[in-house]
Amino acid sequence: MSDAKQIIEESFEHLVKTYAPQPVVMDYGDGVYVWDTDGKKYIDFAAGIAVASLGHNYPPLMKTITEQAPRLMAVQASYATKEKHKAAKLLSETTGFDLIYFSNSGTESVEASLKCARKWAYDEKGEQANEIIAFRNSFHGRTYGAASVTEKFHSQPFFSPYLGGIKWANFNDLESVKAVADANKTAAIIVEPVQGEGGLTPAEPDFLKGLRKLCDDLNICLIFDEVQAGFGRLGEYNAYDAFGVKPDIAAWAKGMGSGFPVGAMGAVEKFGKAITVGTHGTTYGGNPLACAVCATVVEEMQKPGFMDNVRAVSKVLYDGLEEIKRNSNKITEIKGKGLMIGVKTVFPPKDLLSALQANGFMATMAGGDTLRLTPPLVMNEDEAREGLNILKATLEEME
Ligand code: PLP
Repeated sequence: MSDAKQIIEESFEHLVKTYAPQPVVMDYGDGVYVWDTDGKKYIDFAAGIAVASLGHNYPPLMKTITEQAPRLMAVQASYATKEKHKAAKLLSETTGFDLIYFSNSGTESVEASLKCARKWAYDEKGEQANEIIAFRNSFHGRTYGAASVTEKFHSQPFFSPYLGGIKWANFNDLESVKAVADANKTAAIIVEPVQGEGGLTPAEPDFLKGLRKLCDDLNICLIFDEVQAGFGRLGEYNAYDAFGVKPDIAAWAKGMGSGFPVGAMGAVEKFGKAITVGTHGTTYGGNPLACAVCATVVEEMQKPGFMDNVRAVSKVLYDGLEEIKRNSNKITEIKGKGLMIGVKTVFPPKDLLSALQANGFMATMAGGDTLRLTPPLVMNEDEAREGLNILKATLEEME
C-alpha cells in the first residue's frame, strides 16, 4: 500500500466521518501551489474554501506567527493585549464598525451576530421580538443557531428541534421578505451578499438596498454574513462595499486569518452595545496570536494594489471562462462575483473535480451542481491563465 493510501485509511479509522476522504494527502504549500505527499503539484483554486487569502507560506504572515507564537499565545480573554488592541482598531477603521467581537470560526461569528441582534431586540422591543428572517439556499454554519438559519439543515430530523422563530424568504425577492417582516416581532434579517455554499449566487444590489430600507423602516437589525465573501474576496475590502449597502452587523472568518483560525463580528454601536459583560464570550477569541495574524492580514490587504490585483485576476478568470464557454458546449453557466466564482458544466461536479485533481488543479463544489473557484487573493494573472489552461484541457478530455 502506498504511503498516501495508508495515511488516508488509518487516519479515517480514527476520525468522525464528517467528510468523504480525498484520494491524495496534502503535504505543503507555497504561494498559490500545494504539493501532495507523492510530490505532485497542484494549483490551488480552493484555498481551503476561500480561506488562504494570502496563499501559502506568505512571508509577512510567517514572520508574524514565528515572532508572536513564542512571545504570547494565550491569556484570559478579559485581559487587553497590544495585539488585540491593534487588530480591533484596524478592523474598526477598515470596516467602519464601532465594536468588534473576536471569535475563532465563521459559525461562531454568526452565533455572536444572532445573539447580539436578539439581545438588542429584547432590550429595545421586548421578549416577543425574537424572530429572525433567513433565506432559502443560505449557509451560515453548523452550530445550532447558525444551522437554524440554514434551510437545508432543517431536512436533518435527527437534530430537531432547531431555534424557533425563524422565518424563510427567497433570496433576491424583497416581497417575500416583506411578507414575513414584522416591526414588533422581527429582531434581524441575516443574508449572505453572495450565497456561497448555495451555489455562488450574488445578491442584486437593489435587493440589498431594499433590505436596508425595510430594516430602517421597521427598526430591524440587518446582518451580513461576510464569512466567505468578505476580506477582499469580491475585490473590495468589505463585501458590503461591492453592493453599496452597509449592514448593522457583519460576521467574518475564513480570509481574515488566511489559514489561521480566527473570526469576528463587527457591529455599529446601537447593536453591539447590547452585548454586555457576561452575556457572551469565548475562551480563545481574541487570543494574541490570532489577533497578530489578523492585523497582518488586514495590513497586507491595505497595501496599494492588493484589491486592484483581485479585480484584475477576477476579470482574467471571467473572460477566460466566457471564452471556454463560447468555444465549447461544456460550460453551461458562469456565476459569482470577484474571486468567488461558480461554473456549471455538463459534467457532474464530482467527476470534474476528480479530473481536475488528476491534472493538478484543486477546487471545490458548491450547491451540489456548481464548480467553485476561490483562489488565493494574491494569485497573479499568469497563474490565473495557467489555471484556465488546465480547466480548458480537462473539459476537452472529458466525454
Ligand atoms: N457562513 C458562510 C457564508 C460560510 O461560507 C461558512 C463556511 O463555509 C460559514 C458561515 C461557517 O464557517 P465555519 O466553517 O468557519 O464555521
